[in-house]
Amino acid sequence: FALSEPDNGSDAAALRTRARIEGDEIVLDGSKMWISNGAEAEWVVVFATADPSAGHRGVVAVVVERGTHGLQAQPIHGKLGQRCAPTSELVFDGVRVPRDNVLGEVGDGFSLAMRTLDRTRIPVAAGSVGVARRALDEAVRYAKERHAFGSPINRLQAIQFKLADMAITVETSRWATWRAAWLVDQGRPDAAASAIAKCYASDAAFAAANEALHVHGGYGYVDEYPVAKLLRDVKLNQIYEGTNEVMRLVIARSLVR
Ligand SMILES: Cc1cc2nc3c(=O)[nH]c(=O)nc-3n(C[C@H](O)[C@H](O)[C@H](O)COP(=O)(O)OP(=O)(O)OC[C@H]3O[C@@H](n4cnc5c(N)ncnc54)[C@H](O)[C@@H]3O)c2cc1C
Repeated sequence: FALSEPDNGSDAAALRTRARIEGDEIVLDGSKMWISNGAEAEWVVVFATADPSAGHRGVVAVVVERGTHGLQAQPIHGKLGQRCAPTSELVFDGVRVPRDNVLGEVGDGFSLAMRTLDRTRIPVAAGSVGVARRALDEAVRYAKERHAFGSPINRLQAIQFKLADMAITVETSRWATWRAAWLVDQGRPDAAASAIAKCYASDAAFAAANEALHVHGGYGYVDEYPVAKLLRDVKLNQIYEGTNEVMRLVIARSLVR
């Protein structure tokens, strides 16, 4: 799913990768940034503009097979977390594919991208629920083992309230995620419901991982316990598939239409 570019992510309609129609072929030039599995995927769906003056109405979605002449993948290194999930920059230099590789019609691309994201934000929410749940489990376990001032720290109300707050957000973000997924299953995908689930669950998971780290004190700050990794990994969930500011834009748009 190759939408983001080096110079634009949130403002996806401002994409610059060009798609020129030449007879029965489409020719692609430009580059895509931060593409998950970009070097590994056998097929890339790339979003490009066939008419920059048409804004989002000029966007076309094109399927490109790995190994097509002119397509190069440059792996991106140095990520804060989720390092087992490869990320690449993709460079398209005169990549030619049959016009039949266009998904839908020329001009449908932006809508296809947005409708895809309405679905793919839900797994990001689900992954966030998992991180929050793990953070809670780790915090509960550690708070039982660790002693301070003569008793386990789980006897301290300050710690108990952190655990309670984490439990609240695990449950509530799970329900928001299930609701968004259920709407898709009913054939009624809902952009705002997906955005609420993704935004709420990832913010909640980041907060839960942060609190779990804090419950571990100094030990949370090193890799002896998994809580620091949870924090590093889940930060991305607030950024990709649209940042949580963009999620709030999507939600707000559904309210003020
Ligand atoms: C590891 C990783 C994997 C990724 N995988 C993919 C992938 O497979 N395919 C793909 O296409 N993309 C992918 N992305 C890209 C990701 O979706 C973008 O990074 C994200 O959408 C943000 O775009 P940007 O980085 O250009 O930030 P920008 O758009 O430059 O935003 C910078 C900051 O400004 C804020 N901002 C921007 N506009 C507004 C606004 N209108 N109101 C309020 N705040 C605003 C943003 O929220 C953010 O905080 C991936 C990114 C990462 C890091």
